[in-house]
Order: sequence, then structure tokens, then C-alpha cells
Amino acid sequence: YSAKKERNQYQLYELRHSERENRRRSVEKKLKTAIANDHLRLYYQPRVDIKSGAIKSVEALCRWYDPDHGDISPSVFIPIAEESTLVHELSQQVTDLACKQLVSWRNMGIDTTVALNLSIKDLRNFNLLNQFADTMRTYDIPGSALEVEITESAAMTDVVNTVKVLNQFKDLGIKLSIDDFGKGYSSLAYLSQLPVDNLKIDMYFVSQLSSQKQDRMINVNIIRSIISLAQSLDLHTVGEGVETIQQMSILQSLGCDMGQGMLFCRPMSATAITDLLREGKVTFARR
Ligand code: C2E
Ligand code: MG
Ligand code: MG
Ligand code: MG
Repeated sequence: YSAKKERNQYQLYELRHSERENRRRSVEKKLKTAIANDHLRLYYQPRVDIKSGAIKSVEALCRWYDPDHGDISPSVFIPIAEESTLVHELSQQVTDLACKQLVSWRNMGIDTTVALNLSIKDLRNFNLLNQFADTMRTYDIPGSALEVEITESAAMTDVVNTVKVLNQFKDLGIKLSIDDFGKGYSSLAYLSQLPVDNLKIDMYFVSQLSSQKQDRMINVNIIRSIISLAQSLDLHTVGEGVETIQQMSILQSLGCDMGQGMLFCRPMSATAITDLLREGKVTFARR
């Protein structure tokens, strides 16, 4: 490496970095406008009893339609929202949209639970619980109609605070799930202190259950241990990202309680999913 080449490479790096930073800023600005103008939508994906297909709840998944960029994925805009306090406004809007939707379902006689995803930053928002309680009061929604999902890595960061916040959710009657379990690093001591109801097994492990995968057996064993851990902590398990009959039957045979994924139902608009909720269960073609 000549000094000159090094300098050039550094400038290239700086350029790329500032391009990324510009793009991030532009997305952040647009997202802010989208939140202010109600351009966020919720899609809903059922979580089903893995044996009967009965719908246990639906997970609300945020969608952002931007006229210039089309549908922008939450895996793009959530991290950007998390870098500023924007995520607080986003979560407030998601909670509001979900409660509004619950009102119209309840008016149709559909009694379901909606699970919301919260970010690690929400757990540090001292106003979060007040906002939840206010929104529930505004729409007259009981805590039993709501569930909150936080990722394993969020739950394991600042555990003292997490335990406090999760207990406050419990006081409101809201159920709790640990999302993407197995992807982070859990302290088992802390896990047993968290007042949670469900463990959602990260879809990576589920995807590895397909017969072509070389380390299929390793992943069968990993999922078996997660389920046995959950059972000893008195938690229910959900397999995430279930796409095939084979994955479903392995999960079934390992004693997994519930499943979520394209095999059962893709995330859909509220209108599209209402009939399914009325039926109360999903049916899927045997492949
Ligand atoms: P997540 O909470 O783990 O949600 C599951 C993701 O898996 C969703 O992606 C869903 O569309 C996708 N999925 C469902 N079934 C299948 C399947 O069979 N195969 C595969 N490959 N994927 C499947 P989505 O909607 O793109 O959301 C991605 C992540 O963004 C979510 O992961 C969640 O962490 C986050 N997110 C979504 N909505 C919100 C929100 O309102 N607030 C916050 N803070 N985060 C959100
Ligand atoms: Mg989730
Ligand atoms: Mg997940
Ligand atoms: Mg995720």
C-alpha cells in the first residue's frame, strides 16, 4: 500500500459513508412525513394452533407505502426510526391503528388478540405505558386483546429496566412474547425473571428444518432444547416463518404449540383477513 492509495481508499470510504448518511437522512425525513400524514398501514398475520390451525391471535406488521419508492420494508425503516426518537411516534401510531382495528373487529363480533412489535428504544420511553393505557382507554380496548412482542436481544439489554416495563404491561393485562428467540444471547437466569407468556422461535432455525439442509438434525435438536426450556419455564412456543408441511410436522412432533408463516397465511390487510378471522381457523393445501 502506498500512502496515496491508502488516502484514496479512505476518501472512497468517506464518500460511501456520506452517501449512506444522506440516504438515511432522506428516508428519515420521509418517514417523519409519512407518520404525520398517516401513510403507515398495518398488515396482519395469524398465529395458529399448530395442530388444529385455529387462529390464536394476529401479529400487526407495519407497512410504509411511499409514492417514490413503493412499499418500504420494516427491516429498512424500523432501524432508521430507532436511530432517532421517531420510533416513539411510530409505535404510538401502530398502537393507535391496532386499537382502531380491534374496535371494528369487535363491532363485527370478532374477538381476537393483536400482537404489536416494540423496539428496544420503546422500552426506555418513560411515557410508553401511559400512552398504551391512554390509547386503550380511548378505544375501550382491554389488555387481553393486546400482546406485545420484543426481541430476545432487546429483552436482554438492560434487564432491570426490561423486567420493570414488562411487569407494567402485565399490570395492564397485556400478554408478552419474546421474538426471534435463539438469535440473541439469553441469560437463562434473566429469562426466568421476565414475566412473558410466549417464546417465538426465530425463523432461521425453522428454515433449517427443510430436508435438503445439511445440518437439519442439529437444528431439530436446537428447537427441541428451546421447546424444553420454554416448557420448564411454563411458556408457550411459536415457530416463526413456517413455510412447508415438513417444517410444520417436525415442529408438531417436537411439541411446539403454535406456528406462524406463509404455510398458514401471509401477512394481509385488515380487510383481506377479516373473513379468515370470522372462520377462526386456517386451512392449507397438503403439498
Ligand atoms: P418479526 O416481528 O419477527 O416478524 C416476522 C417477519 O417475518 C415479518 O416480516 C413477516 O412478514 C415475515 N414472515 C412471515 N411469514 C414468513 C415466512 O413464512 N417466511 C419468511 N421468510 N418470512 C415470513 P416483516 O413484516 O418484513 O417485518 C420484519 C420485522 O420488522 C419484524 O420481524 C419486526 O421485527 C419489525 N417490525 C414490523 N412491524 C413493526 C412495528 O410496527 N414496530 C416495530 N418496532 N417493529 C416492527
Ligand atoms: Mg414479531
Ligand atoms: Mg420474529
Ligand atoms: Mg424480526
